[in-house]
Amino acid sequence: MIDPLAYLAAELDTLRDQGLFRPLRVLETGQAARASFDGASVVNLSSNNYLGLTTHPRLMARAEEAVRRYGVGSGSVRTIAGTMTLHMELERRLADFKQTEAAVVFQSGFTANAGTVSSILGRGDVVISDELNHASIIDGCRLSRAEINVFPHRDVEAARAIVRTLPSGRRKLLISDGVFSMDGDLGALPGLCDVAEEYGCIMMVDDAHASGVFGRNGRGTIDHFGLHGRVHVQVGTLSKAIGSLGGYVAGSRALVDFLHHRARPFLFSTSHPPAVAAVCLAALDVLEDEPALIDRLWENARFFKAGLERLGFDTGASQSPITPVIVGDAALAMQLSDRLFEAGVFAQGIGFPTVPKGKARVRTIVTATHTRADLEHALEAFGKVGRALRIVGTAPSV
Ligand code: PMP
Repeated sequence: MIDPLAYLAAELDTLRDQGLFRPLRVLETGQAARASFDGASVVNLSSNNYLGLTTHPRLMARAEEAVRRYGVGSGSVRTIAGTMTLHMELERRLADFKQTEAAVVFQSGFTANAGTVSSILGRGDVVISDELNHASIIDGCRLSRAEINVFPHRDVEAARAIVRTLPSGRRKLLISDGVFSMDGDLGALPGLCDVAEEYGCIMMVDDAHASGVFGRNGRGTIDHFGLHGRVHVQVGTLSKAIGSLGGYVAGSRALVDFLHHRARPFLFSTSHPPAVAAVCLAALDVLEDEPALIDRLWENARFFKAGLERLGFDTGASQSPITPVIVGDAALAMQLSDRLFEAGVFAQGIGFPTVPKGKARVRTIVTATHTRADLEHALEAFGKVGRALRIVGTAPSV
């Protein structure tokens, strides 16, 4: 009998031939700066655990307490029986943190973006979107059936040129990541806010990689740039610096009430287990009480970035703890990643479709919990492997 899925195996063979087939790396310890993957203890430069909160004792204690008090699941979608006091408390705290009227939590940052864009826009509306915006924004735009216009990365004048040609009566959404996940640079937010105000656009920012990293106590790029009150839809994630899982939208009461009634992941998918909400509340306490964690994150980021640059790697235009090591060819990026792993450093290789063709890279993320010794070890490995693969020349090692 013919296997109707045979084409999948053929496509996978093509990936194998190109050196692009990637088995999943399996983590055997907690998610930490030094961790064990596939039986090897490595310096972990691949997680979004910016502040080390995945294993922070205060968060772990709050999770245990929530499980004991409320059990392990919420049993329903939010709009039926799955809204618990912890969910409401978390949303109040997130709104205060982001200095907005209200906030609503989704199951993930992905569903927050996709569910929001697809519900606030419809056929006949227009999106103006940075070319490197996250996949969840792109999918949300497609689901909305709005007309999609993409502007070159961080190019405010190109965005303005698109918006200027649109009839004033059309509903327009101008949207950018706050921090771009594969390059670590910042969205051109102040200029985009100007354009949005000039032409009456809805302004939306995805701050998944900025919350807990930029701004006062990790309030994000809107706080970093002083743009409070100028961004109508702020998306954040609870899955990265916050250390757990989820996404949220912060904005006006009307926006949040509307999402309660129209955002499909909110309406049709079960809410977080109580322990997840409890952990996120504890994370917000830690951001307020332990700002030294964020300082340490930035010290480590500066040290590591300077080390990679000294070795001669192309680190792009990063302005955040995400530092790409751009090598161009996807197979070479995977080889660099594999050789680094053999040398005790886990930095994932990333190629198309996550980044454009010809821009393959190894992406590094340092955290507050890496020690200086961890980062020195990683730089030494990058130097050795980079020279062996002729990605860099004979720059002095650190
Ligand atoms: N936006 C950006 C910019 C991201 O990098 C990610 C995570 N890859 C998301 C949204 C989705 O967040 P989550 O992992 O919570 O679904």
